[in-house]
Order: sequence, then C-alpha cells, then structure tokens
Amino acid sequence: PLTDSSLPATSPLAILREVFGYPAFRGQQQAIIEHAAEGGDALVLMPTGGGKSLCYQVPAIARHRAGHGITLVVSPLIALMHDQVGALDEAGVPAAFLNSTLEGDEARRVERDLMSGKLVLLYAAPERILTPRFLAMLDSLHERGLFSLLAIDEAHCVSQWGHDFREEYLGLSALHERYPDVPRIALTATADSTTRADIVERLALESARTFVSSFDRPNIRYTIVEKDEAKRQLLRFLRDEHEGDAGVVYCQSRKKVEDTAAWLSAEGLNALPYHAGLDAEVRARHQNRFLREDGIVMVATVAFGMGIDKPDVRFVAHLDLPKNIEGYYQETGRGGRDGLAADAWMAYGLQDVVNQRRMIDDSEAEEEFKRLQRGKLEALLALAEAPDCRRVRLLAYFGEAYAGAGVDPATAERDADGALLRPASRCGNCDNCLHPPEVWDATEAARKLLSCIYRCHQASGFGFGGAHLIDVLRGQRTEKVVQRGHDRLSTFGIGADVPETQWRRVLRQMIASGHVRSVGEYNTLELADSARTVLRGEEPVRLRVPTEPAPRRGRPSST
Ligand code: ADP
Ligand code: ZN
Repeated sequence: PLTDSSLPATSPLAILREVFGYPAFRGQQQAIIEHAAEGGDALVLMPTGGGKSLCYQVPAIARHRAGHGITLVVSPLIALMHDQVGALDEAGVPAAFLNSTLEGDEARRVERDLMSGKLVLLYAAPERILTPRFLAMLDSLHERGLFSLLAIDEAHCVSQWGHDFREEYLGLSALHERYPDVPRIALTATADSTTRADIVERLALESARTFVSSFDRPNIRYTIVEKDEAKRQLLRFLRDEHEGDAGVVYCQSRKKVEDTAAWLSAEGLNALPYHAGLDAEVRARHQNRFLREDGIVMVATVAFGMGIDKPDVRFVAHLDLPKNIEGYYQETGRGGRDGLAADAWMAYGLQDVVNQRRMIDDSEAEEEFKRLQRGKLEALLALAEAPDCRRVRLLAYFGEAYAGAGVDPATAERDADGALLRPASRCGNCDNCLHPPEVWDATEAARKLLSCIYRCHQASGFGFGGAHLIDVLRGQRTEKVVQRGHDRLSTFGIGADVPETQWRRVLRQMIASGHVRSVGEYNTLELADSARTVLRGEEPVRLRVPTEPAPRRGRPSST
C-alpha cells in the first residue's frame, strides 16, 4: 500500500511475490539476487532443487524494469529451456529461447522481440551465441545499453574435470572480453573444489562473489538398515513412525512396486503404485491423489519424483538400493521440503548389490561408463556399511565439510572469524549418531590390505584390482597370482582367516575414506598419501559388525 502502484516494483521481494507468487526467499537467494541485481558478478553453488533459477530470473526482471534491457541465459539443455520459458510465460514474463528446435520463422520472430528490447530473458545454447549473426545482435543491444546481465547455467560444463564438459562453454570467456561491463552470474549444482576453481579460471570470475549453499538437509533423518525381512521391516517403520503420513516407497522393479503396494494395502495402508508401465491416466490419477489427499503412501520406481513439489512428504523409504549416492540424495531430498522433520529410511541387502552390478554389466554402455557406475555403486555401499555419521559421509561425498548445522553442532571447531577449522564429526540426527552400531577394530586388516596393495604394485610395476588383491591376501594360488609371482610376496596368505566378503567391506571403507583410489580402465587400486597414517597404525579403522541374517520364520517371504 505504501508503494506507488503505477510503477512496477524493482525490489527483489516485491518481484518474488508479485510475479512468482512465493512469500519468501529460500536460503541464500536474497543475498544472491540483491548482489546480481546491483550488477555484481556471482558464482552460485546450490544443490539441485535449491532454487537456482530465481537467482537470475528475479535480477533479470528487476534490471529490465530499471531500463537495463535483456538478460541472456546460457543453458546446455534444450528441455530445460522449454520448461523455463513455459513457466515464465505463465507468470507473464516476456521470455524466449533460441535453439536448433526452432523453425526459421519462429527464430526470426524471437530475434525481432530481442532487438526491440521487449524480452526480459533470452535462453540460448552456447554454440548459438557465439555465431557472428548473434554476436552482431548483442553488439547492437550492448551499444544501446540493453544487454543487462549474462547468466551461465550449468557452469560446471566449462570444466574438463567434470562429467559434463562441453567444448562450446570454453568460448564463453570471449563474451566477457567483448562485453566486460556486463555483469555475470554463473550457477551450478556441482560443488567439488577442483571444478569450482576451474570454473573461476576459465570464465575469469576471480572477482566474482562466491555463494556456496550447503547441501545439508538438517531436517532429514537418515537411517539405513540391513535387510532381514524387508517388507516386515518396512511395515514396522511405517506403523511405528509414520501412521497416517504421506510418503514414498521406492522399489527397483515395476513388479515389486505392484506387489508391495498390494501388500501394504492389504495391511490396511493407503498405498498406491506408480511406475512408467502404468497407463498415463492411472499414473495421473495416483499422482493427483498423492498431492491432494492426506496420508497416501506412493510405492514407486524412480519414474516418480521428478518435478513433484509436495512440501509435506514425511518419509522416503528405499526397499532396494538406488543406483548411486547422487540418486539416494535426490530421492531422499523429496522428503521434508517444508522444513519439518522427515525420515529417509533404506533397507539394503547384498542381493541388491548383485542385481545392480548385473544391470551395469548387462547394459549397452561403454566400458568406461560401466566402470564409473561400478565405482559409484561401491561408494553407496560404503555409505550403507558406514559405522559413523551418515550425514558427514553424505556431505563429504559432495565435497562439503559438515559444519554442524544440525541438532548436534558441538563437535565442529571455528576460528575467531567463524571459519571452519575442523568439521563436525556427527550430526545427532541419523541412525548411527542416535544408536551407535556395534563395531570391530579393523585396523590390522586395513594395514594388511594396504601393504598388499603396495607390495603387489612394487613387485609388478603396476596396480591390481580388488579381486586379485583379495586372492593374494587369502592365499589363493590362482593362475594370475602364480603367474605374477605374488604367491612369493610377504603379504601372500596373511589374511586367509578373513572371508572375502569381509575384505570387500574393508576395501570399500578404505576407498570411501580416500586412503585408496580406484583408477584407470580396470579399477586398479593405488594408495593415497593419507594411507600412511593407517599403515603406521596412527589411525584406527572401525567397521560395523554385520548383522547375521535372521533365521527364516514360518511364512515364506518373497522379499
Ligand atoms: P534448481 O535449478 O536449483 O534445481 P529450481 O530453480 O528448479 O531449482 O527450483 C526448484 C523448485 O523450488 C521449483 O519448483 C521452484 O519454483 C521452487 N522454489 C525456488 N525458490 C523458491 C522460493 N523462494 N519459494 C518457494 N519455492 C521456490
Ligand atoms: Zn549423524
């Protein structure tokens, strides 16, 4: 009421409410938006779903209203451009995209709108932007003071270290040289420090302010249990802790989705199946009921979830292992968006791992991709088997040192300026923090394993994979062991008393803690410098005592 309603508002909060209909900013959005709207350069690291789009859309609108003209958004994904422009359209913001899917006429029309200064945002693929024709248009806009802001989405594509490297992104530095006064905002969900440094260097963002959002979801409580009778374990979890709550139960196969949904319904729960094999109409109906009614348990494959924005999902359960930690984080992240307590519960069994490995082996992918997938599956298994804080492990996987923002911040240490000296070692809101598991001292086993990696490498001049090293440790005279002469090494047979599965666990934890690296085409193992502390016995290694599979009770179970 105090603002002059004849003028469009340029304050970020007013724009958020008026254009997007949201009451408040999330996390660091406001600081980022204010910085960008004032013309500062920014590098934004925020997890997927954190709300990166608004970080450039709101400044784009504010600056357009203030007469600065258009914001150019560089994006590598055509599907994403479509979605974003569609959503902006609905919100009444003039936006368009230019990419290879446009017919000549449509492209011409977009170009006209661009040159007239009426567009607020233009999305384009990098290869498009760097054409002489497009640069000539930018030149003209720039001369007229109508090139307001350059937003670079998925900025990690500029880094050769990342998995998404795109040659065309390298050309974007030329854009900055051509228009040095146009402010830039680069955004990514990829947080590791090597990639970050690479982005800064390649896009010349040295003087940009960096905004790092934590990937932590403090209200989510992580619990990972070993499968015993998985469906019964699930039912107990649902009855004891989530009576009447809405949530998702993920299963790997369509058949298992249907079986589990039918079984939960028979047990009196409000459960519905969802997978890509169901009719579109059934899927839509189930999704709508999940969104509108209270307390629906959606039993689903990963086909369910993308784009669901239900704030009060109180639990996400996994009855099978996801593909990798990224998948686990994404899927569990659908719980508790309203900030209230939510559970991420998972049951895993070694049979899951066998199944996942088979799926990787049988897939059509290239060998290098398969190797990567196998490594990621191992990392997930290491998380499942971890004896210590799940949250610390999860964040460490994404390159983040846990600062203790959860309910148990006591163990982090900061200096006088508030910088993190030592990350927190526990969160107080995961199963391992709440009920520390029984552990055994695996220091000796770990030292044997590390020495074996070292000796085999030394003897042959190159590294070996896990299977061979475990054969050597267990004193197996396989053809390869004999051929390499590894049966004559001092480490041959020193671990004969430990079963292979146990050695695998030790190895996974050594990889997860970074003491051992898995490299090259054959996943050969090599020691990191830090392995020395374990070899010298300076760092104790503790592993979770695996629970014995319980004897089968009466009824046959299909879990
Ligand atoms: P990202 O690009 O980081 O993955 P998006 O920009 O797609 O995330 O945002 C994820 C979801 O969160 C979207 O549905 C978006 O509308 C919503 N969102 C973002 N910011 C806010 C906010 N301040 N208030 C409410 N919802 C928001
Ligand atoms: Zn914890």
